[in-house]
Amino acid sequence: MTRFTTDVLEGTCLPIFLGGKYVASKGPEIDSFDPKTGQPWCKIPDCTPDEVDAAVNAASEAMRDAAWCDLTQSQRGLMMLKLADIVDREAARLAALEVRENGKLLREMEALANALPVALRYFAGMADKIEGTTIPVNKPDVLNFTIREPLGVVAVIVPWNSPLFMMMRALAPCLACGNAVVVKPSEHAATGVIAFAELVVEAGFPPGVFNVVTGLGHSVGDALIRHPGVDKVDFTGGPATGRLIAKGAAENLTPTALELGGKSPNVVCNDANLDAAVTGVISGIFAAAGQTCVAGSRCFVQSDVYDQVVEMIVERTRDIAIGDPCDDAVQLGPLSLWSQVEKVAEFVQSATSQGARLVHGGGRPEGLGDGWFVEPTVFADVTNDMRIAREEIFGPVLGILKFENDDDLIEQANDSDFALASGIWTRDINRALRFMRRIHAGMVWINTYRSPSIMSPSGGFKHSGYGKHNGFPAIEEFSRIKTVVIDHSGISQDPFVMRVTK
Ligand code: NAD
Repeated sequence: MTRFTTDVLEGTCLPIFLGGKYVASKGPEIDSFDPKTGQPWCKIPDCTPDEVDAAVNAASEAMRDAAWCDLTQSQRGLMMLKLADIVDREAARLAALEVRENGKLLREMEALANALPVALRYFAGMADKIEGTTIPVNKPDVLNFTIREPLGVVAVIVPWNSPLFMMMRALAPCLACGNAVVVKPSEHAATGVIAFAELVVEAGFPPGVFNVVTGLGHSVGDALIRHPGVDKVDFTGGPATGRLIAKGAAENLTPTALELGGKSPNVVCNDANLDAAVTGVISGIFAAAGQTCVAGSRCFVQSDVYDQVVEMIVERTRDIAIGDPCDDAVQLGPLSLWSQVEKVAEFVQSATSQGARLVHGGGRPEGLGDGWFVEPTVFADVTNDMRIAREEIFGPVLGILKFENDDDLIEQANDSDFALASGIWTRDINRALRFMRRIHAGMVWINTYRSPSIMSPSGGFKHSGYGKHNGFPAIEEFSRIKTVVIDHSGISQDPFVMRVTK
């Protein structure tokens, strides 16, 4: 066992993982940067087309290997439970690796790493409860039933913000359903996923059930999603990439599930507990430095408490401690990519020029060396037509908008290309439930925000994508229904008439 750590990997190039083994890629190397210092720290291979092919072939072989496909559902579940225990043991190491490559707070990444075994155990428990149904088709001599079977080879493509957590949302239900998986992590952050691979072997999964290829999206990712041996593509990432993936996969009629970006409304009503609401607003946009798909980046505040809430948000933002993501006292680490720092700067400029009022931040903090830090930034007097209200920034930039009443709120909040998450802070449950019914969003949080659970389906609508992770819908996402019809009448029927139900 290799036991990858940040020390072991420093200055080296990652292997890839094919058919149960680590192998050195023949592709060129890409620098992976430590966002805290802005310096490269290890290298990620840009796999060759042959290596992508080998990964898909290894997964296809696993789907024909009795060691995997003849396991009973309970045996699959038990193997997943074993993997969960191993991941539990290694969670701290995996979290440290991911912090090094994406710069998010260590305690955030530890929480996400600790959620990995939770997901494995949840779906392990489902493995032997995946079943079909018997259908009364109104034909006395016919038995009609369905079985649920695995899809085959699932390509899982994940972004850089939470690679293992995003991967696990697909991997755990995929394994429970009996699929084989090829994961392609981001070219910016792959070490966690690579280090995870050896744990799958230790748990006893047969070779080829789990494979990892690394590299650029337009080469490795594109080759993977177009591969004829792939039966489903599960993608988490940006909307522009999602569109390319849906088009590319369509060439082979390969189904896709797309978890894309958002511009989620987080609403503060005049009857809310304002203290709790402001905490929710801060956590919605500044946790993970705003690099979260569900970021509550459009904060709607009711007009009669608007000035008060803006003041409270600014006060809380002023106190945010920026610095080393491994320091327990720090609340905002660096951004994961230099291009994200540039993107934030560009949006600060665009919001200012479109008339939004900068009430906090907007620049880069001093005294933190070459790290990719930006200040938590708050704009007031934002209107829904401004770019800052329409486009995903994926950084710590909050736009505060005003609404007069509930109809006005819904009209503005739904006037967006995205429909991923939403939040509302109010003491009036009727008001909250009316919002819940009318808002275009895959998730609605009432008096809380950014509060997911592996048991609770997640996924968006509109340009935020389609398909569901988590909960039982994930089992439906990664399995398919086969219908079986048995005629036990023993009667020979007219061959030229369809045996349709009367
Ligand atoms: P991205 O779309 O640039 O990349 C995501 C992954 O897709 C990477 O592995 C990348 O290499 C790959 N990729 C890029 N082009 C590809 C192509 N043509 N074919 C195949 N694969 C390709 O996204 P990112 O910058 O890594 O992540 C940020 C985005 O991810 C944001 O928009 C964010 O909202 C979204 N995101 C969504 C969720 C969710 O659950 N909805 C969660 C996290 C992040």
